[in-house]
Amino acid sequence: MGCNIAIDGPAGAGKSTVARKVAAKLSFIYVDTGAMYRAMALYLLKKGVKGDSQEEISSVCTGADINIEYKDKEQIVILNGENVNSLIRTEVVGNMASVSSANPRVREHLLKLQRNIAASNDVVMDGRDIGTTILPDAEVKIYLTASADTRAKRRFRELEEKGQTCDYEKIRQDIIDRDFRDMNREISPLCQAEDAVLVDSSDMDIEEVTDRILEIYNQKVKA
Ligand code: C5P
Repeated sequence: MGCNIAIDGPAGAGKSTVARKVAAKLSFIYVDTGAMYRAMALYLLKKGVKGDSQEEISSVCTGADINIEYKDKEQIVILNGENVNSLIRTEVVGNMASVSSANPRVREHLLKLQRNIAASNDVVMDGRDIGTTILPDAEVKIYLTASADTRAKRRFRELEEKGQTCDYEKIRQDIIDRDFRDMNREISPLCQAEDAVLVDSSDMDIEEVTDRILEIYNQKVKA
């Protein structure tokens, strides 16, 4: 059984950047579960599924074989034999992932994969339900959040830096809609686990958040 650090929180709170840094400092594996939901969403979009029929999602999702591999410590998501890392970081895929992740069969499909990885490795795993559902016995649980405005500004800057044209108000609204869907779905809604430590990154930079999580890890695991 590996040592498990669970980091949950809403879109754009900085989970993946911070989780990657914490994993590197501790020599743990970083597991980005959002990327698995994104790969599933990509598969559904490719199959022409629109997202308004949960029945259609349930029947089509079983055709997606999703796995992860590591290359130079980077997680690679494999969808039916293909590396899809470069295809899953779009707003369209993210929004579809937020819709299709509410589907019980999609979640069941990915739950086993996530638990298997955590059972045999020291991991920092980020997502929405890691501390509550996937790894309820994780040694360290963090709920990382930030205000919707902060998260929208960060996302806007990120897209601008990539040279993509974007509309701030649309990004902010997408984040609010995504939060609502993630927090209000029936299965594994996003919420803070009772034993998770809340970290609000609104006024913190990446280094400060990373140090805070390492401090919590040292208190819980090393004490
Ligand atoms: O974190 P990221 O934005 O890549 O995740 C994409 C979507 O996948 C989220 O909006 C959420 O709906 C879903 N997700 C989830 N459970 C997880 C990770 C992601 O439902 N553990």
